[in-house]
Amino acid sequence: MCIHCRQREPQEKLIRLQCIEKKITRYQGVGRSFYICNSCLDNKKLQKSLARICKIDPISALKMLKEIVDNGQSSNP
Ligand SMILES: [Zn+2]
Repeated sequence: MCIHCRQREPQEKLIRLQCIEKKITRYQGVGRSFYICNSCLDNKKLQKSLARICKIDPISALKMLKEIVDNGQSSNP
């Protein structure tokens, strides 16, 4: 379930993330995680949801999210 819109989607349509020491990362296999759906990635209010979960400010949340999304796309050679 997406943390922002609370839509239930198949896992392959969701991005699994987690927050470690106030940093948003892709899920590392251990610890608490949360999901975001593709349609929420472009939602401007998403950063507020992330900020609340990670207890950080929305601007850093958006920055970290962008890095994760960009890295994910460029990982294929
Ligand atoms: Zn969503």
